[in-house]
Amino acid sequence: MDSPDETAPVAGEFELIRRYFDRGPPRRALLGIGDDCAVLAAPRPGHVFAMATDMLVGGRHFFEDADPASVGHKALAVNLSDLAAMGAQPVAFTLAIALPDVATDWLTGFCRGLFELADRSGCELVGGDTTRGPLNITVTVIGEVPEGSAIRRDAAQPGDDLWVSGELGGAAFAVAETIHGNALPADHPARRRLDWPEPRNRLGLELRHLARAAIDVSDGLCGDLGHLMERSRVGAQVCWPDLPCDATLTGLPEDRRMRFALSGGDDYELLFTAASENREAIAALSARLSLRLTRIGRVDSGDSLRIVDRAGRRIEWSGRGFDHFA
Ligand code: ADP
Ligand code: MG
Repeated sequence: MDSPDETAPVAGEFELIRRYFDRGPPRRALLGIGDDCAVLAAPRPGHVFAMATDMLVGGRHFFEDADPASVGHKALAVNLSDLAAMGAQPVAFTLAIALPDVATDWLTGFCRGLFELADRSGCELVGGDTTRGPLNITVTVIGEVPEGSAIRRDAAQPGDDLWVSGELGGAAFAVAETIHGNALPADHPARRRLDWPEPRNRLGLELRHLARAAIDVSDGLCGDLGHLMERSRVGAQVCWPDLPCDATLTGLPEDRRMRFALSGGDDYELLFTAASENREAIAALSARLSLRLTRIGRVDSGDSLRIVDRAGRRIEWSGRGFDHFA
């Protein structure tokens, strides 16, 4: 941002790019913003690139009146979460953005949230596209992972423990409250879960050696666990009383707590499977990262997901994950 006045009117697309997105000479990229392509050096020896794209649509993935800094943060965070789930180290990203108009205050806030997370994650903006249109933000991230070490969805084995990081259900609770006209204040913990998800990249890197399979929980635990099961051709059982529910769900009726924690989206925690020999190492990792890691069930050789109580009795539960086309 080289303009002395970030809120002065923007003369056009290229000034907008220069003012908000071009931050000077690239660090990791050999050639960054300003040419037809960014040019990146090959990954370090023995490493490969991992790539992911996630799109945020205004009014669908975030409320249109959300703090623009949180929108910038979240646009990158949801992508970094995909790298975390693969055990990949963030390297660079591109940003394709459609804006209904050039609202300079909004862009300044957006960039603050975006670049704070980018800098903290060592992930550099190297290019993108800027156009006018209904608010849409598409980020593509590139990460680096030792060849053969990416943590895949399709590698879970019967007998593995099932683990999840952090707490579940807070973001979905915030969405439900807002939809029902009880928008939570911006500093409410559930609202912060929704607006400022913290990608679990440090955890993802450590899990390369400990996890067998992993996925990030973006569309709800049951839905995302279902994807992992399908890819790995396994079943699973989840012990509902062991689930780490977000503190904001305390006191809600059990069916609502189940709905938010089992089917709610937007948590961006990591769900992973690991051999039972790794329990102590995972507990030690949890302490080292100061991040709650909870064993919530296990993988089996079936083809379905069973929600059970502590005695292993089945709990009837028909909820699923979020599907934009269902
Ligand atoms: P092209 O005409 O080749 O598509 P553009 O005119 O769209 O290039 O963009 C000019 C330069 O600005 C390119 O290097 C592009 O990567 C970069 N750029 C455009 N929009 C963004 C953005 N939102 N964030 C980062 N870089 C951007
Ligand atoms: Mg372009």
